[in-house]
Amino acid sequence: MTTATVVGSGPNGLAAAITLARAGLDVTVLEAAGTIGGGTRSGEAIVPGLLHDHCSAIHPMAVGSPFLRGIDVERYGLRWAWPELDCAHPLDDGTAGVLWRSVAATAAGLGADERLWRLLFDVPVAGYDATGTDIMRPLLRIPRHPLRLARFGVPAAAPAAWLARAFRTEPGRALFGGVAAHAFHPLHRPLSASIGLGILTAGHRYGWAVAVGGSQRIADTMVAVLGDHGGKVETGVRVRSLSELPPSDVTVWDVAPTAVAEIFGDRLPARIARAYRRFRYGPGAFKVDFAVQGGVPWTAESARRAGTIHLGGSFAEVAAGEREIAAGRLPERPFVLVGQQYLADPQRSVGDVHPVWTYAHVPHGYTGDVTDAIIAQIERFAPGFRERVVGMSTRSAGEFATDNPNYVGGNIMTGAKDIPQLVFGPRKTLQPYDIGVTGHYLCSAATPPGPGAHGMCGANAAERALRRLR
Ligand SMILES: Cc1cc2nc3c(=O)[nH]c(=O)nc-3n(C[C@H](O)[C@H](O)[C@H](O)COP(=O)(O)OP(=O)(O)OC[C@H]3O[C@@H](n4cnc5c(N)ncnc54)[C@H](O)[C@@H]3O)c2cc1C
Repeated sequence: MTTATVVGSGPNGLAAAITLARAGLDVTVLEAAGTIGGGTRSGEAIVPGLLHDHCSAIHPMAVGSPFLRGIDVERYGLRWAWPELDCAHPLDDGTAGVLWRSVAATAAGLGADERLWRLLFDVPVAGYDATGTDIMRPLLRIPRHPLRLARFGVPAAAPAAWLARAFRTEPGRALFGGVAAHAFHPLHRPLSASIGLGILTAGHRYGWAVAVGGSQRIADTMVAVLGDHGGKVETGVRVRSLSELPPSDVTVWDVAPTAVAEIFGDRLPARIARAYRRFRYGPGAFKVDFAVQGGVPWTAESARRAGTIHLGGSFAEVAAGEREIAAGRLPERPFVLVGQQYLADPQRSVGDVHPVWTYAHVPHGYTGDVTDAIIAQIERFAPGFRERVVGMSTRSAGEFATDNPNYVGGNIMTGAKDIPQLVFGPRKTLQPYDIGVTGHYLCSAATPPGPGAHGMCGANAAERALRRLR
């Protein structure tokens, strides 16, 4: 029987494992941590029974993932749930940009920006299922739907700051800017609109869902599917050298490119080793999970009903903050993302105490404590928040890197999203999953289509491995 080893059990590693096991290979996944899931882990952290997502929380990319849509996930226990409002971006004057799942409802709430929002999203959202098959694989391919892809790609190629100028209202501009900032990349650089437009388009099509029972259910479901195809996972096994691998016909690496360079040493072709060693990582994250009595007292009423809240004020302020962070300086008011997953999934709360998920963008490898800055940003839009906090748990950029070697310097994106890395992945090639050693493939979020709990890097890498095997 043909054998395969997958190193790393993040959503990409598990998607690769399932794809290979479905093709009849005997698959073993080796995971460094004591639990499966990589960026899809959840658990208690502060109050017994209160459920926190340790990493990913909001899942438009997973619900819309061609790989996950190909699995009857409900049969394996994964259910999605949606908050009433996908996202709110409150401003200092008490107003907010509000993202509904529906393009029309979002646009209608944006007043003078109604036409622009519809222009940006009506057509791409209607064609998302077709375009998604082009977006969710390496970009440098002959597209299956060229016209639709061009319709999405033209605005995506622009700097987010250019696109922002087309907005006439601050709520519209800030709403767009907050989502664009998910790229952890300065908003004045070319292509910086692409990740935000991708998330918004997927979100309008599939909603900003949460996994009922926590993001861990995504990993649990994938492991159950893998088990049905005869695959298995071993935890607590960190692979540091090739000699630690069991003999396999195929090995797929859900690890960072720099780690591949270290593990392979001089087994890698020199030009690939050079590219992997020079792979660039972007800014980091500092996370605080809160247990909050009665929830966050947001001034903007819409924020009380939204699953995600973006805190950073106006577009100009968010953009200035992202520029500072990319330059290695922490702004006084960093961009903060807040998740209220319990609104869609009330079983995560204990009585009237609710889990609130937050993280701030910080410079790469930042060693300081950002808890006070996060609390201050929340207080700015929800005075009285501090008094409601029952407990909290923090994770610094350095702790992210220790918990998961893929998050180098706390960069939860596994790589800077600059133009070459967005277009090609970790090295300039049309085959981003090949690492230049027969039988070995890279599948982490450093490869196309990039970060998110969608599993598509893994599925694409495994498809590539299967084609090579045949
Ligand atoms: C705080 C945070 C918030 C996020 N929010 C969202 C969100 O809301 N929505 C979203 O879609 N995405 C979000 N993400 C991003 C998403 O989680 C990642 O993009 C996704 O998990 C990447 O999947 P992956 O399989 O490539 O890697 P990972 O999920 O990082 O998994 C890699 C796995 O490989 C293991 N590993 C690494 N090296 C070795 C080795 N040498 N030997 C053995 N095992 C190894 C690691 O321990 C880890 O378990 C977030 C991430 C973080 C950290």
